[in-house]
Amino acid sequence: MADQNGGVAICPGSYDPVTYGHLDIIARASRVFDTVVVGVVNQPVRKPTTLFTAQERRDFLLQATEKLANVKVDVFDTLLVDFARKHGAGALVKGLRAISDFEYEFEMNQLNRKLAADIESVYLMASPEYSFLSSSGIKELATFGAEIEDLVPPYVAEALHDRLSRDAK
Ligand code: ADP
Repeated sequence: MADQNGGVAICPGSYDPVTYGHLDIIARASRVFDTVVVGVVNQPVRKPTTLFTAQERRDFLLQATEKLANVKVDVFDTLLVDFARKHGAGALVKGLRAISDFEYEFEMNQLNRKLAADIESVYLMASPEYSFLSSSGIKELATFGAEIEDLVPPYVAEALHDRLSRDAK
């Protein structure tokens, strides 16, 4: 990690939408690094269509992190390492839930390392209470009108129910 920029870390993701699992990782990263930039991928390659626009995903994150003074939110549409350089970041912080996350992250780590060996990737283990939680799982629950209030902030739950609930129309 380069000495001059080790204080800034990026937490990248599609955040479609943000969950308490993401927020747990962001809050923990904010206690380790001086500044955390939550990087919202505009058009995720792995998920060509998103339920919420980049602006909506960003606004949910801004609201959810407003009490964390050293956390910023920014949307990006470039290579992750270029986004990290733009913010002077020395680290990428990712959350790891299970073996499936590990395989993907291992591959991405090798690619990012090849592109930018000076930017270190750091992995935080999911907290047990959120280790089963994913944005896609949340969308599935909301589609069938399940309770999601313990898993996402209230305004996200409301937006999900509005957009997905089969009883809505
Ligand atoms: P998802 O897989 O839920 O669609 P993203 O692509 O937005 O999430 O992931 C952004 C980052 O947050 C990734 O590093 C991912 O591993 C991490 N993450 C997502 N959900 C959780 C969770 N419940 N606990 C810990 N980390 C998580």
